[in-house]
Amino acid sequence: LIRRTREAHLLESSASLLSWDQETMMPPRGVEHRSRQLALLARLAHQAATDPVIGELLAVCESDRELTADPLSIPAVSVREIRRHYDRATRLPAALVEELAQVTSLARQEWAEARQASDFARFRPWLERVVTLKRRAAECYGWGAQGEPWDALAEGFEPGCTARGVAEVFTPLRPRLAELAARIAAKAGADRPLTVIVPPEQQMALVRFVAERIGFDFTRGRLDLSTHPFCGGTHGHDVRITTRFHESNIFDGLLSVMHESGHAIYEQGLPGSEDEELIGTPMDAAVSLAIHESQSRLWENQVGRSRAFWTWCQPQLRSLAPAAAGLGVEQVYRAVNLVKPDFIRVEADEATYNLHIMVRFELERALVSGDLAVADLPGAWNARYKEYLGLTVPDDARGCLQDIHWSLGSIGYFPTYTLGNLYAAQFFEKARSDMPDLDAQIEEGQFGGLRAWLRRHVHAQGKRYRAAELCQVVTGRALSPEPLLRHLEGKFLPLYDL
Ligand code: ZN
Repeated sequence: LIRRTREAHLLESSASLLSWDQETMMPPRGVEHRSRQLALLARLAHQAATDPVIGELLAVCESDRELTADPLSIPAVSVREIRRHYDRATRLPAALVEELAQVTSLARQEWAEARQASDFARFRPWLERVVTLKRRAAECYGWGAQGEPWDALAEGFEPGCTARGVAEVFTPLRPRLAELAARIAAKAGADRPLTVIVPPEQQMALVRFVAERIGFDFTRGRLDLSTHPFCGGTHGHDVRITTRFHESNIFDGLLSVMHESGHAIYEQGLPGSEDEELIGTPMDAAVSLAIHESQSRLWENQVGRSRAFWTWCQPQLRSLAPAAAGLGVEQVYRAVNLVKPDFIRVEADEATYNLHIMVRFELERALVSGDLAVADLPGAWNARYKEYLGLTVPDDARGCLQDIHWSLGSIGYFPTYTLGNLYAAQFFEKARSDMPDLDAQIEEGQFGGLRAWLRRHVHAQGKRYRAAELCQVVTGRALSPEPLLRHLEGKFLPLYDL
């Protein structure tokens, strides 16, 4: 069973490397052949993962009591996760898989053109088709007795996640975040971003230095340029991260590299880096998207936007980015924490970001359950932006057409971003209580203590626990909105003199 699982992983990781190449190195005219290569690999990987022999081998393993007696042992975790993956992959009829692939590939193009023209009416029939197909997929997957169709879709990104569970955390968080954002906005009105021109070569030297210092292992990874930053690669010994630079904003490139390095350090710290036998098995894989995102956001937000970090990093600017050398620590700290409620999620600051996610979660949940018709999406979207962020959305391009996710059929994905922020805050708070001098270490540019803590408690656990269990095991508590609120209020109330 493990040998077959590894083979499927070899195919998937080969596809992942070709995708990395497509985003970073491939000449533009290579695209048609590349899409044929990727389609073939996707088909082979799907065949390998759904081969009836896997089902037979699973049944044999599951009936072997000794193998699965300890549910947290490596064999038991492997069997549980391979079963989960196999059931999901075999539950959708081939015709539905194919229709979803075709419709979402066309919907993605239509979305891009509709967004360009800011014309929701054009995208509407495509989104209707996507929602209908995803609802059918949810019915094939099934959901729990107390659950709803959204749960079945979220399960693909975040095992064990339910709409009810997400709402339990989001609902108390939302009014407090909205109030914080409104108070800051009233105070920060005139603040402007810092503009310092730093050439891309200098920014590259700076971000490589910081990435290596926080723990990205360049002997087992690369950093290259792409239009949209991402973390990919094949396994823990070959992790590929990318970034992009804006000449007038060094913080954007640096924080995006800290974000992707956080993903990469997780991959490099998975159990396969210690035991080659585990590579390509569930124990050598991340828990979920939200836990992955907790690692990137911990380095980006909890570390990269802290005063302690800039106390260390600002002097490094002198040699690495001389144009920014004259900035004071406080000046930079304010600049990386500038709060301004705005329409676009990907440009949102730390204080308002999660409100953007809550809008999307509520709307996609209602779309899938049938409580909201696609035709009513722009109105529902704009009403929530008014209520949560105090903004009047000027057009659909800056409203419900801004994100690619739904056109790709990625429904159930958005909450993983905010769950990532919540887990990051809860983990960081626990790390700080275990290491009371953590801030002093960061001020000295010493990140090894934090990295070792994350490795021991999160990375080295592979898929042993589900996200909610991992949180309980690591922090002694269920996921709660309080650590994130304490973090945001602890930072922004003094910063904005509130
Ligand atoms: Zn990320």
